[in-house]
Parts: sequence; structure tokens; C-alpha cells
Amino acid sequence: MAIATINPFTGLVEQEFEPHDDAEIERRIAAAQSGFEALRSTTFAQRAEWMREAARLLEEDAPQLGRLITIEMGRPIKAARAEVLKSAKGLRYYADHAEEFLAPEQLTDPSLVGASSAGTVYAPIGIVLAVMPWNYPLWQVLRFAGPALMAGNAGLLKHASNVPQAALYLDTLFERAGFPAGAFGTLLIPASRVEGVLRDPRVKAATLTGSEPAGRSLASIAGSEVKHVVLELGGSDPFVVMPSADIEKAASVAVTARNQNNGQSCIAAKRFIVHADVYDEFTRLFAEKVAALTVGDPLDETTDVGPVATESGRDELEGQVADAVAKGATALVGGFVPDRDGWFYQPTVLTDVTPAMRLHLEEAFGPVATVYRAADREEALRIANGTTFGLSSAVWTNDAEEQDWFIRGLDAGAVFVNGMTASYPELPFGGVKDSGVGRELAAVGIREFCNLKTVWRG
Ligand code: NAP
Repeated sequence: MAIATINPFTGLVEQEFEPHDDAEIERRIAAAQSGFEALRSTTFAQRAEWMREAARLLEEDAPQLGRLITIEMGRPIKAARAEVLKSAKGLRYYADHAEEFLAPEQLTDPSLVGASSAGTVYAPIGIVLAVMPWNYPLWQVLRFAGPALMAGNAGLLKHASNVPQAALYLDTLFERAGFPAGAFGTLLIPASRVEGVLRDPRVKAATLTGSEPAGRSLASIAGSEVKHVVLELGGSDPFVVMPSADIEKAASVAVTARNQNNGQSCIAAKRFIVHADVYDEFTRLFAEKVAALTVGDPLDETTDVGPVATESGRDELEGQVADAVAKGATALVGGFVPDRDGWFYQPTVLTDVTPAMRLHLEEAFGPVATVYRAADREEALRIANGTTFGLSSAVWTNDAEEQDWFIRGLDAGAVFVNGMTASYPELPFGGVKDSGVGRELAAVGIREFCNLKTVWRG
């Protein structure tokens, strides 16, 4: 895949970039190593000051950055600007809390281990390689970079090939904010060059957010090098609606939960599993509200849904829906590629989905929802868990006992009750099953790439 900005609204190439060659890759790994050596001996207070300055720069640059995100991957402009501000908030969160999250711990009774004192300290490990996706081109990267740099690690970013300008902005952000040169940098490389970088002995660990095949490939290389990985992969999150729920509200939130970011969020609700008693009401409201979405130019402030980010992504959706319809699914809304320029797919609601259809098991990465009818809560849970993914989930019920029952039963990294799954700096984020390993965000996120060192004194 060429490293290029191709505007999904027009399909036109805006700018193309030469990938870094061997010499430049070596120069950047060496710079990251020097950046790490400089950073590891700085204090939390110093890093926090630089991190707050990086947050301030993001806020200052938000109007241009929002526009850049929209042009590179088609995210509606209002949401693109919000992504920039959320990223700044995430950086400040780690500026404020890193020291507390990485504070040394002591055994209250060290005599148990024959010591005068014993406990743990968190130490940085070195360069962490971050392989990142295009769907939230700033937030995905910065939710890794904030904690990594606050812990004293260096970060090397290999961003998705279709967001090179976002990648180049991030290349200089932290140095502009005061961090040592090289502590965070971008490698403009295709996916095929990741292996060589990961096998470099100076690179100590890796994190990948993206598809399951990319995650499996990176993890197998990291495994052979005995390097730690965090994987944030795909999802096909269930959104369960039970009779005691506020059905009108559930239907409204369902529309956003499925169509935000043009349907391209890993934690988007993708499968709607509705109790038979409220199926007709929910499905009618959901279909009406999806049909009312404004599809159009993502730079227009009133647009709800813009184009899918890549032509291949749009073609994939078209194939998945065609397969479902050919096998008996009903498109209540949408189900087609609109007749216009750009990589649009019409927001779609499908019913009568069966296990024979690709969409039953595959992730739909675009504005396509499938709705299932469940006879009771046991069947709802069976359908919800009947996937190889396990990223997040949502359940709508006002019955407290039922809420607890679903929280216990759902095989997912998160359960949102009467709300839409979202990521927050304060809450751990990650999946189970094929959705990944490890966690980002909160205290657990910053500890992933630290050496938890046991210290025993006689
Ligand atoms: P992708 O094709 O896997 O790309 C993600 C990143 O991995 C890109 O930088 C890509 O580089 C790189 N890559 C691809 N194949 C690779 C390989 N074999 N070895 C090393 N690197 C490789 O995913 P995408 O289509 O951009 O993103 C959509 C997927 O990401 C969806 O499945 C979505 O659910 C998932 N996602 C998950 C999360 C989460 O937190 N769990 C968040 C966002 C997205 P190139 O661009 O150069 O190919």
C-alpha cells in the first residue's frame, strides 16, 4: 500500500510520501535509543510539564488537525476536532497521575521474606514500537504515547499508510513540547518493514491496534524474540436490549453506537440483540433513526456519516451485505453503495441474519448493523457471546438482577449498562478472545510497558 493521503470523499490522491529507507530507519531507531537514555533519568515532574505542553499544542492546533483527520480518513469534522481535544485530555491525565500509578510499593512486614525492607519499583524498559490504525489517527497513538513517555520509555510509531500527515505531525509533537530529541518519533514504513524493526534488539516491546491478522503476525514475531506485546484488535460488539429498557433511548443511542466515525470504531456496537417482546418497537425506531442520518461531505458541520476511509474497506462492506442479502437477510434501510463520488456506503440495518452469512461472524467495519431477535435472556447471551471477538458490549435493562447476570455472563473486555461503549483515560480498555491481549489506559495501561522490579534489602 502506498504511503499517501487519499481523500475518501473524493477518492483523489492529495499527497504521496517516500517510505524511509534502511539508513533513515537506523537513524530513527538510534535517535529513539538516545531519547530513551535521556528521558529515563528525568523526573515525573519534568515529564509532566512537557506532557502538559504537548496537550496545549494539540489544543492550539485543533482546528487544522481536525481538518487533517477529516481529509485523511473521512471522519466528520466535529468529531475530528473532538478527537484532538480528547487526546489532549488523555495526555493531561497521565501528566497528573503517572507518578502515583508507578509509585514504589513496600511489604508492610518485610521480615516475612527475611528482609529489612522489600517491595517493588516500576522501571522503564526502552523503545516501544507502536503499530497503529487510521480510524482514530491521533487518539489511538496518543493513548499509547502519553503513558509510555510518562513512564520514561521511548516510542516509535509505525502509523497506518493512509494517514501519513497525522503520523508526521506526531513525529515532532513531543520534541516541540520539550521532550528529549528522539524520545518519540515516526517511521514512515510499510507493514512489511515492521518485522525488521521489531527484531532490532534496541526495540523492547510492541503494541498494535488494528486487525486480527496484523495482530497475530506481530505477536508471533514478538513471541520468537521474547518481547512483550499489547494487542487491541477487532470487535463485533453486542448491544443487547431487554424489555425493561427505555426503548426510545436505546434506539437513539444505538444509532450513534453503530454509526459514529462512519461505522469504523473497534468498539462500535455491531450486532443488536433484542428481546422478542420489544423487537418490533426497537427495530422500527432504530431503522427510522438510521434512515434520518445525514450522509455527506465530512467537512460539512451538519454531516452525521461520511465516507468509509478506504476503497477496499467500502468494497469489503459491499461484499458482506451482498452475501447476507443473497442468503435471505432483509435490508430495512440502506444495503447499497450510493451513486456519488467518494467511498460511501449507505447506513444499513439488516434483519433475518443467520449463521450462514459472513456478517454473522465477521466484523462489519462501516455503517452496517445486524439485528437479531432473542426469545429470552439466555438466548440473548448466547448470541452475544457467539463470536470469536470479545472487545466490549452493551446491555440495556433496568432490572438490577438482570444487569448483574449479563455483567457476569458477557465474554468481553467491558460491559456498558444502559449506555454506549466509549474509551476514557480513567478506565482500562482492551479485549478478550480474538480482540486482543493486555490493556491500555488507566493505571494498568501505563504499567504494561514497565519492568516491575522487585527490590529486597537485607
Ligand atoms: P490493519 O490493516 O491491521 O492496520 C493497522 C496497522 O497495522 C497499520 O499500521 C498497518 O499498516 C499495520 N499492519 C497491517 N498488517 C500488518 C502486518 N502483517 N504486520 C505489521 N503491521 C501490519 O487494520 P485497519 O484496517 O487499519 O484497522 C481496522 C481494524 O482495527 C479493525 O479490525 C478494528 O476493529 C481494529 N481496531 C481495534 C482497536 C482496538 O482498540 N481494539 C481500535 C481501532 C481499530 P499499513 O497501513 O501500512 O498496512
